[in-house]
Amino acid sequence: MDFNLSNEQRSWQMAARKFADEEIRPLSLARDAIPTARETWDWDIIKKGSKLGFRTMAVPKEWGGQGTDFVSQALVMTELAKADSAISKAFSQNWKWSHLISSACTEQQKQRFLPAFVADDTFVLGKGLTEPSAGSDNRLPGDDPKTGLKLRAERKGDEWILNGEKAFIANAPIGKLFFIDARTDASVAPRQGTTMFLVPSDTPGFRIGKVFNKSGWRFYQNGEMIFENARVPHANVVGDVGGAVRKTGGAGGDTTGGDLFGDLELASNALGICDDACETALRYAKTAKQGGQVLFAQQNVQLQINKMFMLTEALRSYVMRVAWEHDMKIHSRNAGLAMNYSCDVVNEVSELYMEVRGAQGCHMDPHTDKLVRDAFIWNHLAGDSVSRMKIARRLAA
Ligand SMILES: Cc1cc2nc3c(=O)[nH]c(=O)nc-3n(C[C@H](O)[C@H](O)[C@H](O)COP(=O)(O)OP(=O)(O)OC[C@H]3O[C@@H](n4cnc5c(N)ncnc54)[C@H](O)[C@@H]3O)c2cc1C
Repeated sequence: MDFNLSNEQRSWQMAARKFADEEIRPLSLARDAIPTARETWDWDIIKKGSKLGFRTMAVPKEWGGQGTDFVSQALVMTELAKADSAISKAFSQNWKWSHLISSACTEQQKQRFLPAFVADDTFVLGKGLTEPSAGSDNRLPGDDPKTGLKLRAERKGDEWILNGEKAFIANAPIGKLFFIDARTDASVAPRQGTTMFLVPSDTPGFRIGKVFNKSGWRFYQNGEMIFENARVPHANVVGDVGGAVRKTGGAGGDTTGGDLFGDLELASNALGICDDACETALRYAKTAKQGGQVLFAQQNVQLQINKMFMLTEALRSYVMRVAWEHDMKIHSRNAGLAMNYSCDVVNEVSELYMEVRGAQGCHMDPHTDKLVRDAFIWNHLAGDSVSRMKIARRLAA
């Protein structure tokens, strides 16, 4: 296998590293420390990154985007996440959904939304699936019509009338366009009775509620969506009525039917956190003094740092393999597994990092504190029981 990067891939990596060092890192801890969830977002950094192409990386070149391959995307996410995991996610969240526009929408829908998305540095996308009482059962949909999402959509002439709520939706408070899953037939299983709609933020009857106050990824906005007789044109239905569950954010997914973008995205982002933890731990161990010598002189610290680097490099190999396989159109089972693995690695590496920092790890040193809070998000998004069961079931299918 050839592990070399092409000139183009290397240049994306370098551009992301420069942006991360010069623009993201200087503001990361200050944004994270803002107590009000709604105020952590910073349009200035999004606009600057957008002008460098980081918002539109997954839009095909014929639609004015960057049309980058998966290896470049993984490299960029890792570099941005090394400076701030939540800001990296704020950019890459757009890749999934802009790809869904270009891969699953009609020509007319693409014409309406893709040029507008590309042209506007403040055009941010999201997807609403979760509801206050429907989370995991959306990710493991069963046959009982009573399970899963409840948001209703009823057809009236050329429009659909949406009523209900969504919760925890990323980019909700600042997004301009959302994919929304709604039940169009509540008498059948969610798999058959759910339809996906394109819902612009200025849709009549649609508004944003509260912004959730998270412990990690504080920059990244998660909000409530409220639909009160919201009127969505039939022209905004994505694919078939009743076909939402078959549309994902992935580029065809892996052979286990997974969502490649989402899986690779989380694994690459975790790698950035691990890179940050390794470098910072090493720097700290080489400078902090303990018992009249630098901390690194302690054998236990050497063992901890060895393990941090070993796990991080193993994760890098897996991430790059998944990205490369998909660029080569070699479809494997690896994307979902790499995502689960990234959860284990980011947790272990961040815990080792805390140990190397000694008491500083518990003293709420702002950098250590943020790193550990951000890493903990993976337990929920990438390595919880539902995610692992889902991937195991796909392997067995
Ligand atoms: C940072 C962040 C970003 C998010 N972004 C989005 C977004 O953009 N769009 C969106 O739609 N949603 C989003 N979500 C919501 C997320 O998808 C849900 O939180 C998730 O589906 C779990 O739902 P829940 O929180 O209601 O937990 P629950 O479903 O109540 O589950 C609670 C716990 O029980 C376990 N559990 C539940 N059912 C089972 C089962 N059958 N077997 C075994 N264990 C089970 C789960 O693993 C979990 O540990 C986001 C959440 C976070 C934290």
